[in-house]
Amino acid sequence: MHQVVNIQPPEFLPRKFKVYQHRQLDKIEALQHIPEKMLFEMKVVANVLPFRVNEYVFNELIDWDKVPNDPVFQLVFPQRDMIDPSAYDRMAALMRSGANSQEIFNLAEQLRAEMNPHPAGQTEMNVPTIDGEPLDGMQHKYRETVLFFPSQGQYCHSYCTFCFRWAQFVGKSLRMNSNDAEALHEYLAEHHEVTDLLVTGGDPMVMRTKKLRQYLEPLTESRFDHIQTIRIGSKSLTFWPYRYISDPDADELLALLEKLVKAGKHVSFMAHFNHPQEMRTDVSHEAIRRIRATGVQIRCQAPLLNHLNTNPDDWAAMWKEQVRLGMVPYYMFVERDTGAKRYFEVPLYRCWEIFRDAYKQVSGLARTVRGPSMSAGPGKVEVQGVTEIHGEKVFVLRFIQARNPDWVQRPFFAKFDENATWLNDLVPAFGDTKFFWQDEYEAMQG
Ligand SMILES: *Cc1c(COP(=O)(O)O)cnc(C)c1O
Ligand code: SF4
Repeated sequence: MHQVVNIQPPEFLPRKFKVYQHRQLDKIEALQHIPEKMLFEMKVVANVLPFRVNEYVFNELIDWDKVPNDPVFQLVFPQRDMIDPSAYDRMAALMRSGANSQEIFNLAEQLRAEMNPHPAGQTEMNVPTIDGEPLDGMQHKYRETVLFFPSQGQYCHSYCTFCFRWAQFVGKSLRMNSNDAEALHEYLAEHHEVTDLLVTGGDPMVMRTKKLRQYLEPLTESRFDHIQTIRIGSKSLTFWPYRYISDPDADELLALLEKLVKAGKHVSFMAHFNHPQEMRTDVSHEAIRRIRATGVQIRCQAPLLNHLNTNPDDWAAMWKEQVRLGMVPYYMFVERDTGAKRYFEVPLYRCWEIFRDAYKQVSGLARTVRGPSMSAGPGKVEVQGVTEIHGEKVFVLRFIQARNPDWVQRPFFAKFDENATWLNDLVPAFGDTKFFWQDEYEAMQG
């Protein structure tokens, strides 16, 4: 077997950690000290939103003396206010009545449907086709990038409470995925405008290397020369760094990545870190080192979340640490309009202040990060700032990505609103009735 890195310090010997899912909250020893009431609240919410956590996360990444305010605790453990009070009351009452699991599931399905499971027109507007047939498990929103959701990668080693893909993990009816490598390859071969494939999930790194290879290795053929970049979105560096060290096929995985790099592809690992605490273990540093040793670049992105990472010093520390470990800060996102948004949302002007307070603390090498950015229907909209123009307080905005590439990088202005948390809360400044892109976007929606 190809050995990319051959140092194997003893603390990285193969380890298997237990995974707990939503009916097993009681079994987590670390939760024994939590008040009964709070544990019940967590169970109620875990019936609605996805819950899964492994021992690595709660043994190594959570500071239990800071619970419930510990950021990693907030990242994975459900909290009462994550669902709306009436939804909470209905689920709590049903559970207290001794309902069976089918009844609980049925109510959960209803409540989920009320939580905007597919934001930003994902299910209607971004579906690519071959010969007029829609392709499951793919999205093609921006000209140069195709998103692919391999069916075996539609879960994660643990689940984030704020996940905007949460609907993928609960109930079949909301899922979107594909195991059709052939359809993916056929589509990419026909679409020469596409330069980037973004493999996403869930977390594609939960997949065995053998599966991942079926999707990725054929891309080294000459018919895919236009595919310059393969991006892989993953939170495994937080949730399961052993994937690159002691999983049975870890070396095979690193060899696959190296092969893609050697074939001339730019492979970009899109890592997801919300808080510096996620990067504090030796095992995560070793995983980062091994991935980089294959020639893969690691870029980092994360949403800004109330209760979790609103301190600008945490962002600055995180970006600095990323640069120190050889990674590239890439995006700060605004929490999307789905799932537990009510709990995590931060007003747009605060997002900008936090971004700025963090950005001004770091060197230029960490200022590759962009944001705060909203992945909204028409595109990725960055809040560039708040300012006053001829006496009117406004948001300055720009598209980083857009459904029409021509919209990109044109400044536009919205009336300042201290309560706005998302693009659809904003109205044009200076008495305009529409944003410059609005008519065209409405026409695209048909
Ligand atoms: C963010 C995103 C991309 C990638 O955009 P970049 O600016 O190239 O990183 C592609 N497709 C969708 C749907 C996205 O949300
Ligand atoms: S790892 Fe990513 S896809 Fe998985 S739960 Fe977290 S945010 Fe969602």
